[in-house]
Amino acid sequence: MAEKKEAKAAKKEKAAKPYQKKRHCPKCGPGVNLAAHKNRLSCGKCGYYEKK
Ligand SMILES: [Zn+2]
Repeated sequence: MAEKKEAKAAKKEKAAKPYQKKRHCPKCGPGVNLAAHKNRLSCGKCGYYEKK
């Protein structure tokens, strides 16, 4: 269920704006991408985030 939701969100973001760089979470590893927000990137899995 969570996977489905994530895939949907990723699709939505991709459609809204072109990806600059796909970043992955340093804590969770390359398999987990950070979600791009206006002023930050965040990981939905562990809560890690980076300011842009
Ligand atoms: Zn993470």
